[in-house]
Amino acid sequence: MKAFAYVNAANEREALAALDAQRGRALPLAGGMDLVGLMKNYVAQPVRVVNVKNLDKTITVSVTGARIGAAATLVELIEHPGLSKTYPALTHAAEEVGTPQIRNAGTLGGNIMQRPRCWYFRNEEFDCLKKGGPRCFAVDGENQYHAIFGGGPCHIVHPSSLAVPLIAYGARFRVVGASGEREVDAGEFFELPADNLMGETVLRPNDLLTHVTLPAASAVKAATYEVRFKQSHDWPLAIASVALTMDGARVKSARVVMGAVAPVPWRVPAAEQVLAGKTITEASATEAASAAVAGATPMSQNSYKVQVARTAVKRAILRAAGIQTV
Ligand SMILES: Cc1cc2nc3c(=O)[nH]c(=O)nc-3n(C[C@H](O)[C@H](O)[C@H](O)COP(=O)(O)OP(=O)(O)OC[C@H]3O[C@@H](n4cnc5c(N)ncnc54)[C@H](O)[C@@H]3O)c2cc1C
Repeated sequence: MKAFAYVNAANEREALAALDAQRGRALPLAGGMDLVGLMKNYVAQPVRVVNVKNLDKTITVSVTGARIGAAATLVELIEHPGLSKTYPALTHAAEEVGTPQIRNAGTLGGNIMQRPRCWYFRNEEFDCLKKGGPRCFAVDGENQYHAIFGGGPCHIVHPSSLAVPLIAYGARFRVVGASGEREVDAGEFFELPADNLMGETVLRPNDLLTHVTLPAASAVKAATYEVRFKQSHDWPLAIASVALTMDGARVKSARVVMGAVAPVPWRVPAAEQVLAGKTITEASATEAASAAVAGATPMSQNSYKVQVARTAVKRAILRAAGIQTV
């Protein structure tokens, strides 16, 4: 690992000043679950890391919505009674992340901002597109965990499980940086490689994600379902979150989002349209799940992910409606 300086910021103002003093060469450090690995592999080489764990970690839930500080740990999310009652699709996704140790140290902000797990990107020996190199090694290489949507030219999948339900709930992210503060819709926060090859989000160097807000969800039925190769210490093969706004027994409107299948959390309006106006049954869930994966373009070794994603969507829909799934 390259030598670096450590700044322990007491608050947002200090964190921004510490980042700004090393423009483009400093990085925020939250739980370190992701960043330290990147630094050990020389993929990230900041000259300074700025501790942001002392920043906002409060969680408030009311009838008008919720607000979660980016420094809140995943365990704090999971154990918050109001959050798990009103936003179960979010806390369920957090419960499945990694291991107890990772959930204890990992933060909401770090989870959303974690970099892709693509083994070519993470390996210092591969000079891939995302590191300024000439090609995506997944195209002719080991691509069994890569994208089935998104169109390249880099075929990473987005790693954050929490981003998926956050988009399904219609969350907004507050971002602050040298040019001031702004709020970004969670669905517009993540960027495809075709638009932003070197990064994954609209955050610019030295910007901080400070907190997330969620709209009221007491009338929303939502759930997350994920399929994993290993039950622990791993990322999902596919994950889906579904949020259903009901009109009696029928779906008034739906939001369906898949994760681990594209370089960004992948919202599927085609599946949402299938559900609108229907009651949730095995048949309508199956039809929506098929619509969700209809446009998939698998690579040489990952066509199995189409069926895995279809199953995740179907079971998330049934679970949201309170229908028993396996
Ligand atoms: C074995 C293993 C299994 C895992 N499984 C899963 C899984 O199933 N699902 C899942 O979603 N995650 C999974 N994770 C990822 C884990 O949840 C994240 O690595 C962790 O949440 C990152 O959070 P952190 O607080 O440690 O971030 P850090 O490692 O400190 O930071 C991650 C990145 O975010 C940036 N950053 C941190 N905070 C901010 C901020 N406030 N504003 C702007 N940028 C910021 C950092 O500069 C860095 O680039 C797994 C990790 C491991 C090691």
